Parts: sequence; structure tokens; C-alpha cells
Amino acid sequence: MNENHIYDIIIVGGGPGGYTAALYGARAGLDIIVLEKLSAGGQMALTHRIDNYPGFEDGIDGFSLGEKMQKQAELFGSKSEYAEAVRMDLNANPKMIETDTGVFYGKTVVIATGANPRELGIARESELIGRGVAYCAACDGMFYKDKTVAVVGGGNSAAADALLLSRIAKKVIIVHRRDTLRATKIYHEPLMNTENVEFRWNSTVAELLHEDRLTGVRLKDVVTGEKSMVQCDGLFVSVGRKPATELLNGQLELDHSGYIIAGETTQTNIPGVYAVGDVRTKLFRQVVTAVADGAMAAYMAEEYLAGDVW
Ligand code: NAP
Repeated sequence: MNENHIYDIIIVGGGPGGYTAALYGARAGLDIIVLEKLSAGGQMALTHRIDNYPGFEDGIDGFSLGEKMQKQAELFGSKSEYAEAVRMDLNANPKMIETDTGVFYGKTVVIATGANPRELGIARESELIGRGVAYCAACDGMFYKDKTVAVVGGGNSAAADALLLSRIAKKVIIVHRRDTLRATKIYHEPLMNTENVEFRWNSTVAELLHEDRLTGVRLKDVVTGEKSMVQCDGLFVSVGRKPATELLNGQLELDHSGYIIAGETTQTNIPGVYAVGDVRTKLFRQVVTAVADGAMAAYMAEEYLAGDVW
């Protein structure tokens, strides 16, 4: 690695938004590097099956789709580095990204760091991770073959997780704080018609019951206040995600939930810095909307560089 090299675009995060920015930027002849800490695909790589990405009529698993996106961007000359960003100076000229493998300089930066699972925030939650508490059904579901699991949440992720787990576990109990699912209608019927799926409506998890690993949960009925005990071997927490913006350290404007404020152009408050995918303010966080952002960010960066204003 040449630490004095200045890239046209540094892309932080190798999910669908990041690799689409890399593809479009590389095809435009720009000098691109993608910094990715784990593997291509980001959160998408943990998705068991994606049925709503056009062009894959039989569905595709998120890991394979991530690999394909990386390969396609690299065919056009984009580079990838397995490196975790630890500090950024986005106001500097050139912009600086410090990682655990070295320092990278760029004329522009695309932030594509995505969002991570949100925790419940109850006692012993972090201690029991890997001992009954889990955040990714596609990753950890297989440990619960023929066991009883609870899934907390009522959104698309919880619904998709519950369906996946119903094919592995003996019983799946969906715990949701409302009396109806927030998930899109396409999930409702399959869930209601799956024999081993039960619902605990108007309920939150008040306490984790455990010995050396989780043995059950104490639920609280949010209407009556009544508490009840549910025995389960696993608890999958699927209550939304929080944007990965800790590293920005106040340099970019965020909304009240911590998402980077950027519209359809992906332009942030700093010229030459763009935010794509789940990390930016938007109505609908999907793979297709992330890839659209990636294309837009590369276009914006190209225009910015053509103006020679960096
Ligand atoms: P989400 O849509 O924000 O849903 C989070 C769910 O968790 C909500 O039902 C919420 O309850 C509940 N919740 C939040 N905090 C809670 C707490 N402390 N205790 C108990 N319950 C809590 O998040 P998501 O399901 O992770 O989805 C994130 C994004 O990815 C969405 O845009 C979603 O459409 C997308 N996605 C799409 C698919 C798909 O198949 N198309 C699959 C997965 C994800 P309330 O309903 O009461 O707010």
C-alpha cells in the first residue's frame, strides 16, 4: 500500500450501495478503493434469501449477491481493501481515512457504512449473546434446530426471521409490542398459516431468564401490565437497526435517529462527501434503494471532480 496515493473516491463500506458506487465510478474511469472490514455485502450478506432484487427470479442469498457486486466492480478496475476505518477527517484536503491497516487519502469519500442491529437494552442482554440471545436468524438459526425460540419485533426483519426459524425450530413465538404486525402484508398470511408460529401480542420482554444460558423470558403485557413467563432456548432480537455513524465524530449532520442527512443526491453537508444506503436519511431501506444511491454518489463525485474543486 502506497500511503501517499490519493484516490478519486474512497468508499467506506462494501455493501450494495458501496459496491454500486465502486462499479459506476470505476466504469467512469475513476481511481476507486472500497474499504470493507469483513466481507462484501454488508448486512445483506447475512440475509438468507433475497427475493426482491430484480433479475434473480429464483431469489439469491445475500452473501453471493455481495460477492457478485464486488467482482463486477473489480472487473472495471475498482480495488478492495479489508480494513476497518477507525478515524476520518472529511474536512481535510485530501480527505483522510485512517484504518487498522493504514491511512487512505481521497479527493472524495462515499460513506456506505450501513446500520447494525438495535439491542433491547435489558439486563444481561450482552452477556447472553451466543448463549441464547441472537440478532441474526440467518447466521445463528441453525443452532436452534428442533428447539423453541422467541423473536422480538413486528417489522419486516422480524417477520422474515420468524419464517426462516419456523423451518428450523420446533416452535417460534413472535413477541410484539402492538396487536398487529408492522411488516408488509406479504408476510402476514404465511406467518398466520404456519403451524409452529405463535404470537404474543401487546408484549415486551421485561426480563431474560437464564442459568449459564437463556432458559426463557418474562413478558410484560403493555395493556394490562401483567407479567408471564415463556420458556425458550433462544431469543432473536429483531427490533430495527441503528446507523453506523459513530466514526463521523460530529463531522456530518445527522438526524435525531443518527442517520446522515442526505437527500436523493446523496450529498452531505461537506462538499465531496456522499452518504449511500441504510446510513442515510430515507423512507425505504432496501437493497434496490441502496444500489440506486451508489450510482448517484458516483455520478455526484464525478461531477465534483470534473469541476476540479477538491
Ligand atoms: P423496523 O421496520 O423499524 O421494525 C422494527 C420493529 O421492532 C417494529 O415492529 C417495532 O415496533 C419493534 N421495536 C422497536 N424497538 C423495540 C423495542 N425496544 N422493544 C420491542 N419492539 C421494538 O425494522 P426492521 O424490521 O429491521 O426493518 C428495517 C428496514 O429493512 C425496513 O425499512 C424494512 O422494510 C427493511 N427490510 C425489508 C425486508 C423485506 O423483506 N423487504 C426484510 C427485512 C428488512 P413498532 O411496530 O411498535 O414500532
